[in-house]
Amino acid sequence: MTFEELGLEESLLEALDYMGFEKATPIQEQAIPEILKRNDLLACAQTGTGKTAAFILPVLNKLAAKPSSNINTLVIAPTRELALQIDQQVQAFAYFVNVSSCPIYGGGDGSDFETQKRALKSGTEIIVATPGKLISHLNMGYANWDHVEHLILDEADRMLDMGFFDDLMKIVGFLPKKRQTLMFSATMPPKIRKLAKSILQDPKEISLAISKPAAGVLQAAYLAYDSQKARLIRGLIADKPSYTSIIIFTSTKKKVNEIVRELRGNGYNVQAVSSDLTQKDREDAVRKFRSHETRVLVATDVLSRGIDIKNINLVINYDVPNEAADYVHRIGRTARADSTGVALTVINPDDMYKFSKIEELIEMEVPKVPLPKELGEGPEWSTKPVRHGGRGGGRHGGGRGRSGGGRSGGRGGRHKSGGHKSGGNKSNNNRG
Ligand code: AMP
Repeated sequence: MTFEELGLEESLLEALDYMGFEKATPIQEQAIPEILKRNDLLACAQTGTGKTAAFILPVLNKLAAKPSSNINTLVIAPTRELALQIDQQVQAFAYFVNVSSCPIYGGGDGSDFETQKRALKSGTEIIVATPGKLISHLNMGYANWDHVEHLILDEADRMLDMGFFDDLMKIVGFLPKKRQTLMFSATMPPKIRKLAKSILQDPKEISLAISKPAAGVLQAAYLAYDSQKARLIRGLIADKPSYTSIIIFTSTKKKVNEIVRELRGNGYNVQAVSSDLTQKDREDAVRKFRSHETRVLVATDVLSRGIDIKNINLVINYDVPNEAADYVHRIGRTARADSTGVALTVINPDDMYKFSKIEELIEMEVPKVPLPKELGEGPEWSTKPVRHGGRGGGRHGGGRGRSGGGRSGGRGGRHKSGGHKSGGNKSNNNRG
């Protein structure tokens, strides 16, 4: 379906044309008409499906038809990175419809807070915020929320996993009862239904094939002991000089640092993204990776959801994520928008049971590829949970378990840019 058929305003069609979006994605096809009809929405959609544009376009369409000088739309996202990315997409479209937006997240110095405060006080139409920082502003009482027409929760399941339920309920308490609420979630566990029940009214439900990797991702897995992992990863990178963008995911910051040290020690151009770094360093690392200055990015799950980096050739899971849905998010970094990509997962004996659960979720068996000969024999595949008698990682010893990665995003982070009026002057080509 084309965007014209969806009935979008001329200015947005121009924006879409500029951005090279020709056809609506399935989530856009289903969500945009419902949002334009002012229905509440409960949408189950993964990142990579075009869900951001699915909620931004109809909101901007309404603002284009009926401009506002108040806070009109509040988007809440779990992490700073996602909030920033949503804001950037809003700006890319909003340039054509003269709407302003401001990202609100934490971690910066006092001047950032002041910029955000000004944006809130002056009635910036679209606010994209992480819950924690938004609450700090809400508590000060200077923003007028009476004119909010749209509340959008993105990655709602992630926000609940991060313990934001109470914060979300508090934020909702500041907003008008009569509003349109849109909730996007990659998974639909009972706690999401509970949240939906308390904040949505008679929502239309949209569900896109839950937690299935995009069709273009070629998946494979290596069975390896921890002691074999470093060499295996080095080999995988060395083998594929044509892969210019590679992401390695691991579950802990400690592992991120170890992998980066190891690869740098072997002469690879590598950057890290984990909650250990300042927001600025994280943004720098992502920017360098996006611009192909850096070939390999090593990250915790901070990056696995929501972050849109194009043309990644290879995703390597250094370990199996704790949450099955995170596997889909991690490998969703590759093969976006109709391209193909490769996702390789390294599985130690501890992780085999967990990986078998992932295979159940995605309803496919991921082929297990033999280790390169020089690494020696790897462990046998087994789907039985491992009982530990003190020797993690199997017969070659090595580390065990993890402690959930990417929780670092939302609360607290660092703020970078303030409110910005995006639209109006189309001859100004300064939009990044
Ligand atoms: P999202 O799921 O919102 O993270 O979007 C994933 C990627 O798809 C982003 O790079 C979008 O810019 C891109 N995208 C979204 N909608 C379309 C579309 N209709 N046509 C082409 N690319 C799109």
